[in-house]
Formats: sequence, C-alpha cells, structure tokens
Amino acid sequence: MQSLALEWRRRGKSVGFVPTMGALHAGHLSLIRRARRENDAVVVSVFVNPAQFGPREDLSRYPRPFARDRRLCAAAGVDVLFHPAPEAMYVPGHETWVTVEELSRPLCGAFRPGHFRGVATVVAQLFHIVQPVRAYFGRKDFQQFRVIQRMVRDLHMPVRVVPCPTVREPGGLALSSRNAYLSGADRLTARGVSRALRAMEEVIKSHPRVPAPDALRVARRMLRTIPGARPDYLELVDPDTLKPLRVVDRPALAAAAVRLGKTRLIDNRLITPRASARRRWKRPIL
Ligand code: AMP
Repeated sequence: MQSLALEWRRRGKSVGFVPTMGALHAGHLSLIRRARRENDAVVVSVFVNPAQFGPREDLSRYPRPFARDRRLCAAAGVDVLFHPAPEAMYVPGHETWVTVEELSRPLCGAFRPGHFRGVATVVAQLFHIVQPVRAYFGRKDFQQFRVIQRMVRDLHMPVRVVPCPTVREPGGLALSSRNAYLSGADRLTARGVSRALRAMEEVIKSHPRVPAPDALRVARRMLRTIPGARPDYLELVDPDTLKPLRVVDRPALAAAAVRLGKTRLIDNRLITPRASARRRWKRPIL
C-alpha cells in the first residue's frame, strides 16, 4: 500500500482516504462519494483497531462483513480497499503512541480511557501508509474529528482533514455500524437520542443566552423517557475546545452518549443560537 501510495504521490496523483472499521453503511458511503469527487484515487481502509477498544468493550463481536464491504467499495469506485491484519499495523514490540492530550479528555474520553490514543495512533499509522492529500471524517464522531484535526496540525502532517455531515435514518437515528446490535424495538426508541438533541436546539434557538443547565434539563427529561436508556453523558460544549459552556451565547456542540441494552450510541448537533445572542461572536468554528 505504501509503495503504491508513494508512487501515486510521485506522479502527482491526489489520494482521498476514508478510514473505517468496516460494516459499511450509507454514512461511510457518503464519505467515499465525496472522496471520489475530489481526488484522483480513493483508498478506503477497513481495520477494526484493537487499540481503541477497552478490555470490556465489543472488539470481539464488532461486525466484520468483509465480503459485503468489498462489494460496496467496488460499486462506489474505490481504487484500493486496504484491509491490514492487526499484526501488520502493530508490529511485535510496537511502543509508539500518539496522544492528543486535552481534546481526548472530556466526553467519550472520560468514559473510554485510552480510546482516542488508539484512534490517533492508528490514524497516524494509516496516514503514513496511505499518504493521502485529503482524509474524510464524519461529524457524527465529532470529538474524533477534532482529535485528528489537532494531531494533523500539531504534527504538521501534509493532509487536509475534511469533516462530513452525519447521515441519519428517516427517524433521525445517526447511522452506525453498532446499530446492528439494536433489537427492532430498541432501534425505534434509539431515535429518542437525536430527538432530545433537537429539542435542546429548539430551546436554544428560541431564547437568547440560554443557561446551559436549562437546555440540558429539557433533553435529559426526554432521554429519561427512552425505555432502558442509560446516558453516559449529555453536554453542551464549545465546539473548539470541547469544554462545557455555562451560557449558550455562541455556537455550541450538543453531544450525547447513551447506552441502550448492549449498544452504546453517540450523537451530536452543532447549534447556532439566535443572531441576537451571538452578535459579538465572530470566530468561525469549522
Ligand atoms: P467507523 O467505521 O464507525 O470507525 O467510521 C468511519 C468513518 O465514518 C468515521 O469518520 C465516522 O465518523 C464516519 N461515520 C460513521 N457513521 C457516520 C454517519 N452516520 N454519517 C457520516 N459519517 C459517519
């Protein structure tokens, strides 16, 4: 893969890269389509990265429908589907890790110790192997996108990180490979997570300078109505720093992680308050 990538670079061919853990769905395919439009060649990786799973997480049962993934990639015009073995990525004696310190701490980082260290390390490895000009990440995993963006900036990696919109089911549930774990009934109630975030958005858009606890209370009440749902977190944070906001007087990220049965769902929404509330807020956020 790396020899081919270096050869492509030498010949001035731009590579668009979509790193995934496989079990591809329409969310992944939207990233792949965009990569196809914007680059000469498209590489997709399918690698269930052991380093980003905790000891009691779902590494062994994570879905791996590789033959189907291969068909979807071929149909989407992917040039190379890179599917390395774990021991090819983590060679014996591997001891080099990439840690994006502050951005990895809050939200999912607080509940999944070591997760973003595993993500940053494997993405750094993949960037060195695939040599992309552009790499595509879903906003569904907003903290992951921020961590990668910061790593690329801090380590001067010659790649442009492109954030892409979250693809949802008609009922609002964000597509995820882990949705395969949901029972039929849970799949319906799982919609409640995106609904709660939307309700929070309505509150924020209809009142200037909403105190964050007030907006959160509305969403928390809705999450409580989802049968069997156990929230890990529900927060309103600054989309740049991921630190909690006290008053929503500027663009905010509403983010939630909720456990439903054996499934952990995450979702987020970027919310811009009413123009009057953000008069003095000039900084672009993405
Ligand atoms: P994963 O295979 O879950 O590690 O995801 C691979 C990439 O696809 C990541 O950049 C994700 O953020 C992105 N992705 C996953 N689900 C969605 C979705 N519903 N919409 C857009 N992008 C997504």
